[in-house]
Amino acid sequence: PRTGPDRTGQDPLVVLKEVFGYDAFRGDQADIVAQVVAGGDAVVLMPTGGGKSITYQVPALVRPGTGLVVSPLIALMHDQVDALVANGVNAAFLNSTQSAAERAVVEQAYLAGELDLLYVAPERLSGAATTALLQRGRLSVIAIDEAHCVSQWGHDFRPDYLALGDLAERFPGVPRMALTATATRATHEEITERLHLDDAQHFVASFDRPNIQYRIEAKVDPRRQLLQFIRSVPATTGGGATTSPAGIVYALSRKSVEQTAEYLRGQGVDALAYHAGLDAAMRARHQERFLREEGVVMVATIAFGMGIDKPDVRFVAHIDLPKSIEGYYQETGRAGRDGEPALAWMAYGLGDVVQQRRLIDQSPGDRAYKQRMGQHLDAMLALCETVSCRRQNLLAYFGQASDPCGNCDTCLQPADTWDGLVPAQKLLSTIVRLKRERNQAFGAGHLIDILRGASTDRIRQQKHDTLTTYGLGADLSEQDWRSVVRQLLARGVIAAQGEYGVLAVGDEGAAVLRGEASVPLRRDVLGRSGGGARVRK
Ligand code: ADP
Ligand code: ZN
Repeated sequence: PRTGPDRTGQDPLVVLKEVFGYDAFRGDQADIVAQVVAGGDAVVLMPTGGGKSITYQVPALVRPGTGLVVSPLIALMHDQVDALVANGVNAAFLNSTQSAAERAVVEQAYLAGELDLLYVAPERLSGAATTALLQRGRLSVIAIDEAHCVSQWGHDFRPDYLALGDLAERFPGVPRMALTATATRATHEEITERLHLDDAQHFVASFDRPNIQYRIEAKVDPRRQLLQFIRSVPATTGGGATTSPAGIVYALSRKSVEQTAEYLRGQGVDALAYHAGLDAAMRARHQERFLREEGVVMVATIAFGMGIDKPDVRFVAHIDLPKSIEGYYQETGRAGRDGEPALAWMAYGLGDVVQQRRLIDQSPGDRAYKQRMGQHLDAMLALCETVSCRRQNLLAYFGQASDPCGNCDTCLQPADTWDGLVPAQKLLSTIVRLKRERNQAFGAGHLIDILRGASTDRIRQQKHDTLTTYGLGADLSEQDWRSVVRQLLARGVIAAQGEYGVLAVGDEGAAVLRGEASVPLRRDVLGRSGGGARVRK
């Protein structure tokens, strides 16, 4: 039965006010809504918290028929639908957690034209039954949420998304939208192509979150560093009362989540654990406390956070290196959704890098997949190791140019650097000689072996111990060299080419070889400073 009035044909702004209680559309929202209400397709790239939901919910109400929302987040559907119903919207979902009887009720409501919005998991749409059902009723719009899941190269690929490519044929004339908070150029192109959104209008919002201050430091004693950080986060003041700030701490493993939460509790922080290994009731209880109470710190794996709408999260901390910039950006984006100042803090170390490289090596994916994952990791490390503005770096990754922000650690306190000109020249001249004298090119590993004067089979076979640069870089450890290589890659002094990622002289390389460019490298990264080099057990 209908819970609210039929809004078909109403002015979108009136619907926004009366149903959702907002005074005005924000950013691109009005244009996106207009495009879809008029029957056009849209690709929407907007950061987390940008307000994507409104852009399909309003058209779904205004256009005749039911808006179909494809979302992989089954666990959240219930909450989303409840919130909509509370606003007088006729929303329902179909997913695997329901009984056949529950599903039948929803299906009948849909066919009777009573639903404004219907949420489904992508796997429902790979089956013929759901398609047949939906074809018997009327759809107003199809919104594909978390659309980056269609990208096989992305950080969150879900095979069921590939079946969404033919929705236009299955539901001709129904406007389609793809929405995501992941905005690299490659993902953007892949979404457009795989979902066949050739005629769509594209809306790309700025990915800057100016109220979030980014800080990244080398791991020395991660728990103490974390505690120190949490204690440094300003208390929240509101309504005359002062409360300790709410935050999320991300760790990679369940064990680390548990231990960190316990440690923080021992230090007087109201910390709770959250990971997939806890039973559902405890997870729900912890999530509930985090959402409803003030000043709760959730220590969690990345299983926590998708779709969590808590506007006053004051900090997000990472005590392990995220796997990709996309992931890091999404996780840190959960801080400060209310627009008030918030902090994104991370500690990373050599152990993280070693562990993640091993995970990539041991993963079942093919070579191209592993290489892609390696590139994700390298980009993440480049952000950690940059001597310039973190935000500028982050936004550049998403294809958006910007000026130094003045609100990140390297802007506020310039990084301690050392002069990397000489090592850069040694590396470059090794690359140049191999190319000129032997027409050869190699990846970072072998070049570092040459510079460090290693005696490997390959070096002996290739007689690379006769090169003039052989052993010239023995003053730096292998890890130092890896860091140097990453930093040089990040600034275009060298470039990685082809399938195997062999190194070549980059656009900035010639000036460095001539000694005309300075090459400041971070001192605090990985092996260089004493503490940063410790490997976690
Ligand atoms: P996203 O899905 O892009 O992460 P949401 O749709 O969940 O973002 O919206 C984020 C927050 O912004 C929510 O709390 C939502 O209620 C709020 N919001 C969205 N649009 C508006 C608007 N036009 N005016 C005020 N608040 C809005
Ligand atoms: Zn900055």
